[in-house]
Amino acid sequence: MNTKAFGAHAGDKPLEAMDITRRDVGPHDVAIDIAFCGVCHSDLHTVRSEWGGTKYPCVPGHEIVGHVTAVGSDVTKFKVGETVGVGCMVDSCQHCASCADGLEQYCENGFVGTYNGRTSDAPGHTLGGYSSHIVVDDKFVLKINHPEDQLAAVAPLLCAGITTYSPLSHWKVGPGQKVGVVGIGGLGHMGVKIAHAMGAHVVAFTTSENKRQDALDLGADEVVVSRNGDEMKAQRGSFDFILNTVAASHNLDAFTSLLKRDGTMVLVGVPEHPHPSPNIGNLIFGRRSIAGSLIGGIAETQEMLDFCAKHNIVANIEMIDIQDIDNAYDRMVKNDVKYRFVIDSKSL
Ligand code: NAP
Ligand code: ZN
Repeated sequence: MNTKAFGAHAGDKPLEAMDITRRDVGPHDVAIDIAFCGVCHSDLHTVRSEWGGTKYPCVPGHEIVGHVTAVGSDVTKFKVGETVGVGCMVDSCQHCASCADGLEQYCENGFVGTYNGRTSDAPGHTLGGYSSHIVVDDKFVLKINHPEDQLAAVAPLLCAGITTYSPLSHWKVGPGQKVGVVGIGGLGHMGVKIAHAMGAHVVAFTTSENKRQDALDLGADEVVVSRNGDEMKAQRGSFDFILNTVAASHNLDAFTSLLKRDGTMVLVGVPEHPHPSPNIGNLIFGRRSIAGSLIGGIAETQEMLDFCAKHNIVANIEMIDIQDIDNAYDRMVKNDVKYRFVIDSKSL
């Protein structure tokens, strides 16, 4: 199917309109008319080749929501007209130990990303949600149970939501725990909402003084401006868990020193340049850990969507037309987004 899309031909070129082809609907496929697509910082890292390895043309977008227009002959879980989502993955090997455990994001043979992933479809790598339609294997399609009028604000759950829900859930965050969320951007603002809904005492860490009141409104119990030494000092040794979503290289010691004995800081941000090596003393004295976490599996993504529907959680969004995408990226780099851009696919 000929499909309208927006993408870049090189890392230093702006995104532009392009026509792409979606494969014919196979027996296990679901064809989706995309209504909205969130704008993740990973889109920017990829399209500008900040991580290297970007294949062009690059059509980003992995926070996709829309409606089913066709299903393959073997598809039983989805019907034409249903509201569905697609996140960061569109395939995985389905036979390794991680896939067997429902952790497709850790597929030992490499999951297939929604964009920049391997595929036999033209042009030889996957093309994402900055497009009008997509065809996806039914195992990687999610059901959306939020009210239809919240659909645009549901889109960011497909990456920002699951990337924060998964570590909060894996490390069993809940009542009686003090939890920090560092970086109040697309991921971080979801982390605050979800950790609050899980019952934790939530402290938001931001470099942006102007996000103080917002962070409280998002559900934080306290806000710390991390550039303020005295505010940071007051939090020393008090956290069970810290979720660090910062998209840029920074000093991790400022946060490991805030953990209690046996506390863990999970990094989900993937900055272009590495963080300075952390102080090992901070880890040894207190048996503290630094860990990482990657998005979430398909079953867990459905669990997160259902959790958010039940707790009435959606993202705080600013809707844009696709033609404004480069400006949106520039604003994202300046931390000037409250708190996720979402593309109205009608503008394609
Ligand atoms: P975002 O909306 O740009 O938010 C990042 C936030 O980090 C900013 O809003 C800002 O918050 C803070 N920040 C930025 N520069 C900083 C600096 N120099 N020092 C301290 N704080 C800084 O980005 P996002 O979409 O949430 O993505 C965050 C990162 O996670 C990206 O690197 C992205 O690629 C990565 N990611 C990882 C996964 C995964 O599976 N692990 C999934 C999706 C995204 P304040 O204004 O509050 O300081
Ligand atoms: Zn993402």
